[in-house]
Amino acid sequence: MGLSKTDFMRGMQCPKMLWLDAHKPRLRKISDEKELQLQRGDEFGEQAKAMFGPYADVTDYIPNSKYLDKRKMIQNTKNAMRKGEENICEASFEYGGIFCAVDILHRVGDDLWELYEVKNSPEVRQEHIEDAGYQAWVLGKCGIRLDGVFVVYHYDDEDDPFEPVDVTEEAEAFGKTVEENLDRLLKIKGAKEEIHIPRGEHCEKPHECWYQDYCRMLENKT
Ligand code: SF4
Repeated sequence: MGLSKTDFMRGMQCPKMLWLDAHKPRLRKISDEKELQLQRGDEFGEQAKAMFGPYADVTDYIPNSKYLDKRKMIQNTKNAMRKGEENICEASFEYGGIFCAVDILHRVGDDLWELYEVKNSPEVRQEHIEDAGYQAWVLGKCGIRLDGVFVVYHYDDEDDPFEPVDVTEEAEAFGKTVEENLDRLLKIKGAKEEIHIPRGEHCEKPHECWYQDYCRMLENKT
């Protein structure tokens, strides 16, 4: 059982959230407002793919399903790099079961790249830098040379809303946190027994948890 960027980030917020995602995802309750926010984020991400001009999108799905075919995406990424593509969207990599798909990998040299993480947000927040840092760590382990790491936020300009911010230093520093927590989170994800974490501030920050009804119900039972 591997770990994706989403798994890692959700596990860092609350280990129980990670466990529930892996074992009881049907207990999620996502508000209509959140669904809309996620949809707008996807739309903004789609538009951003062309921010450097033509691009190759390596997204692939397991036939007749909504699930990503990660193996195929990794192979598609290798092919796109070999082919000399300048911009690769959803560029996919795996290191020891740790998977990530980079929003935009932008070529700046024969063998040199910039990583762009796109967020439909009016500002760059710490969690965005950490998302980018996780990906930079995976790419580093896969031998990809990065010249810079950027978070693209939603700037208030209809004609040019894609504003990249250089977060290279902070993102690279986050690699230590990734190293220190990977094994712990992998064990939690694969654990057979449900883990127990009391509710608290972490249920709202940095992201509203979708299992709050379930955890509240468990607490009311005890
Ligand atoms: S509601 Fe709180 S304790 Fe329960 S899974 Fe979510 S973040 Fe963790």
